[in-house]
Amino acid sequence: MKRAFFTEDQELFREVAAEFVRREVAPHYRRWDEDHLIPRSVWTAAGEQGLVGLAVPEEHGGAGLDDYRFRVVLDEELAKAGALGLALAFHLHDDLVLPALLTHGTEEQKARWLPAMASGELVTSCAWTEPGAGSDLRGVRTRAVPDGDGGWRLSGQKTFIGNGISGDAALVFARTDGSTGRGGEDSFSLFLVEKGEGYTTGKQLDKMGLRASDTAELFFDDVAVPASNLIGELGAGLRYVREGVPQARLAIAAAAAVVVRQSYEETVTYTADRSVFDGRVLDLPTTRFTLADLLTEVEVTEGYVDRAVLAFNDGTLSPAEAARVKLWASERATSITDRCLQLHGGYGYILEYPIAQAFLAARLLTIFGGTSEIMKRTIGRDIAGSRVDGSRAGTGKEDA
Ligand SMILES: Cc1cc2nc3c(=O)[nH]c(=O)nc-3n(C[C@H](O)[C@H](O)[C@H](O)COP(=O)(O)OP(=O)(O)OC[C@H]3O[C@@H](n4cnc5c(N)ncnc54)[C@H](O)[C@@H]3O)c2cc1C
Repeated sequence: MKRAFFTEDQELFREVAAEFVRREVAPHYRRWDEDHLIPRSVWTAAGEQGLVGLAVPEEHGGAGLDDYRFRVVLDEELAKAGALGLALAFHLHDDLVLPALLTHGTEEQKARWLPAMASGELVTSCAWTEPGAGSDLRGVRTRAVPDGDGGWRLSGQKTFIGNGISGDAALVFARTDGSTGRGGEDSFSLFLVEKGEGYTTGKQLDKMGLRASDTAELFFDDVAVPASNLIGELGAGLRYVREGVPQARLAIAAAAAVVVRQSYEETVTYTADRSVFDGRVLDLPTTRFTLADLLTEVEVTEGYVDRAVLAFNDGTLSPAEAARVKLWASERATSITDRCLQLHGGYGYILEYPIAQAFLAARLLTIFGGTSEIMKRTIGRDIAGSRVDGSRAGTGKEDA
């Protein structure tokens, strides 16, 4: 079926993205994967081509590309080169940090940070998760207390933070009402915290896949945070995280759709090239049956994600809808890449083969940005129309 999804402008953007990937990414990606680090020069090269900070408005030095299809095009081009770790690094910057600044940043904050986010000179991370609080953000213990001079002192620990080592600043979800235990609706705030005294990164976490994207613990030891780094209103952090949930989930669903398409195409090519028992693997009836299932699932996933992207563009994608599409696409991604890997035989298990990398990358998608169980919880609540105490009583990730 023809996929009439992208506009002419987006196809032109694809040429720019493809050229960037060909020149700046593909020849080096393997080394970045081994180093567990993407060089900062890649960010500025991407910035020069208008490939990061896509939604930054023109008045702040960006291209103002807020149609989500541009992000999908970029993901597709990165996936063709197997550069899924770079796609993840860009995702954190563009889908999690940037929307919060665009929606809740003051004019002064936008003027200060957005031009550098679009040029790739300021690389950001999103620091919500802690060793003791992932699915349930109300358990976050990192706290900011007033310094008596209008600013804040931040203390605590975060974990699993992508771009944590390579980045310059983190969007930190912290408790600001002095409460203990599970926080309340107004207990948390968001701060953009720039690296400086007391802000240190822990060791690089040794991930199964997506190794080029650095992931680390962050430590905040009485870090001075100016009042001007508070994002939006004091006590509105949980609300802002919820508002960002549709884009965060959509982004993961879109990445999943891209990974399954790429994995399927690579598997058809591989099985057509590989001979067994005097024929091609592709000609075995069992292979064809598997590929028939795979192609059908890939097309259904793409179609579902495309609809969600258009709904997001219209501003109508609800958190529960985004949860459903993330649940479907990420679960398909683990299952499809697994079956594609099987059709590669032993080579599928060798890391230099793209399918091995895709399989490892896909495994994150049912966990990161809210697990499948949390997606089902959100969807179930939406179906039941229930609210625990008459308000939206859950946490940011579980109950948007
Ligand atoms: C590679 C990687 C990169 C990441 N990047 C970032 C990042 O950049 N920034 C960031 O802030 N975070 C990041 N994360 C964190 C990620 O979002 C969390 O790991 C995820 O939300 C799950 O939280 P948790 O690990 O604490 O699991 P837990 O919350 O401890 O969950 C453990 C298990 O319990 C289940 N569970 C929990 N609550 C319920 C419930 N109510 N009902 C049913 N089952 C439940 C979960 O589904 C899971 O199976 C990253 C994680 C990884 C692995």
